[in-house]
Amino acid sequence: MSVELPEAMILAEQMNHKLKGKRVTSWLVKDCERLQKIGMMDKDPKSFNQLLDAKIESVTSRGNVIRVKFDNNTNLIFGPEYGGEIFYHVDDKTVPKFHLRVDFNDGTVLTVRLTSMGVIELRKDNDLNSSYVYKRDFDPNKLSPVDEDFTFERFSKLIVDQSRMLKAVLVGKDAAVVGISNSTFQDILYMAKIHPKRKASELDITEKHRLHDAIKFVVTERLKLKGKDNFRDFYGIKGGYTAAMGPNMKEQTCSECGTSIEKLSLGGGHVYLCPKCQT
Ligand SMILES: [Zn+2]
Repeated sequence: MSVELPEAMILAEQMNHKLKGKRVTSWLVKDCERLQKIGMMDKDPKSFNQLLDAKIESVTSRGNVIRVKFDNNTNLIFGPEYGGEIFYHVDDKTVPKFHLRVDFNDGTVLTVRLTSMGVIELRKDNDLNSSYVYKRDFDPNKLSPVDEDFTFERFSKLIVDQSRMLKAVLVGKDAAVVGISNSTFQDILYMAKIHPKRKASELDITEKHRLHDAIKFVVTERLKLKGKDNFRDFYGIKGGYTAAMGPNMKEQTCSECGTSIEKLSLGGGHVYLCPKCQT
């Protein structure tokens, strides 16, 4: 279950509501050797000792990344963007498999498990930018689709000079916008009826409008329906949003025109599309 912008927002709000003010009494990491080896988790788990007796001040998100801020200048950074589970437990009787477990002074428990690529990191306030995902998504110079100033004017200005393919402009490290993953990208381009191989600078004004509208629509719908259908929130409740385009449309036909859905290799990943609707 991927945790992207809408899901990270849902989790951060729930976590902030439930965890704010709680003090850490213990922590435990499990089965983390592989994660540490590939850089998805801090090498020395003893760094989590800094959490002991620290109180949660706030939980926020930007893009696909969640920041848990403690009162001793320490932060937990969670970036389970390709798959992860962050759950709340009222006691320790039903704790599922986890990579990081944090116990609080009132007996409640937080568990975090990565099921695909992602990160669990601990960073001091003055060292937050050493976290790749934090630096990428909390960068105030990048636009987030949920920011108030994600207007058509700002968005079109950002992409106007970009001779790169749309995927590079919208997804990944050098994207102009935060919070759009490869799977969201496929959904958005299908709704905007734009071919994924197009370059940003080639889009005419109508296409730019369709793209901006599609980004806003997908993010808003996913928030309204409590996340994607493969996502579970902080309390284990399933989301209700099914992507209109993506791997779930493999070997299917387009619901608009009946054409067989195609799969393309693009920018180090695969992209599904309707070759008739998307031009
Ligand atoms: Zn179609």
